[in-house]
Amino acid sequence: MPSLIDLHSHSTVSDGLLAPEALVTHAAAQGVKVLSLTDHDDTAGLAVAAKVAAEHGMQFINGVEISVTWRRRTIHVVGLRVDPLYAPLHDGLEKIRAGRHLRAVGIAASLEKFGITGSLEGAYAHAQQGIISRAHFARYLIEQGYASNMKSIFKRYLIKGKPGYFEHHWAELEDVINWINGSGGVAVLAHPGRYDIGRSNMLLLLEEFRNLGGAAIEVVTGSHTVDQFQEYAKLAHMFGLQSSMGSDYHGPGHGYIEMGRLPDLPRGCIPVWQDWPETQSLNS
Ligand code: AMP
Ligand code: MN
Ligand code: MN
Ligand code: MN
Repeated sequence: MPSLIDLHSHSTVSDGLLAPEALVTHAAAQGVKVLSLTDHDDTAGLAVAAKVAAEHGMQFINGVEISVTWRRRTIHVVGLRVDPLYAPLHDGLEKIRAGRHLRAVGIAASLEKFGITGSLEGAYAHAQQGIISRAHFARYLIEQGYASNMKSIFKRYLIKGKPGYFEHHWAELEDVINWINGSGGVAVLAHPGRYDIGRSNMLLLLEEFRNLGGAAIEVVTGSHTVDQFQEYAKLAHMFGLQSSMGSDYHGPGHGYIEMGRLPDLPRGCIPVWQDWPETQSLNS
């Protein structure tokens, strides 16, 4: 049984490998019926994605994955059913993207110290139309022969303590949740299992996220193990949060999971989409 709903995916507007049109067409071919495009810090792909989704008879959900600094750590918050024209959201994302450029300059300078030249231009050459991210630096490093795949690049470069690391302060959690909620959307904590913060910090994060107006956490995501599906289902229940699911698909060869292959939410989870008009067709 293919999973019919996928609320987390990336296109070339951020660090995905498929243009929005191709991504939506791919999702349709994989049997997805309700799709959200959630590019990092950028909503530029939503209009064309919505148009192509309609042509395929799919329901489309406006989304975005926003970079946040929480207690000096980077976390990601997905906004679903957002209005990209809502000024605080639009302006907030613009500021994050300006910060991404400055960070890219810092990453390139750090790589330069280790003898790796040309990475700013090299990374931008991979960032075809939208934001600049570490994924684009990773692709440049692969091209230059520093490793053969994304996973091994991210073990040896671009992370704390390694060449190409550059500390950066993203948006505040409270602001991001307010932009999302203010635009009429819902805030979802992305892939909590990927934050290496320990149990007690995770409990603090979930409590703070909920108290600030967060609605749901990703329980089933391409970057969780089967055990983590159960673990985060329990935590969602404990904190009165709803549950979301999404592949976090970035295109062929980027890692994670293919679209349309996610298992259902564990029993007892309250789907974040339960009252959305876009998902009513799935219930019949
Ligand atoms: P940034 O938001 O610029 O810090 O870039 C982070 C992006 O790099 C993530 O959204 C992933 O797409 C990618 N990434 C980070 N770590 C890994 C990894 N270990 N393997 C593959 N991709 C990764
Ligand atoms: Mn990414
Ligand atoms: Mn993420
Ligand atoms: Mn993502």
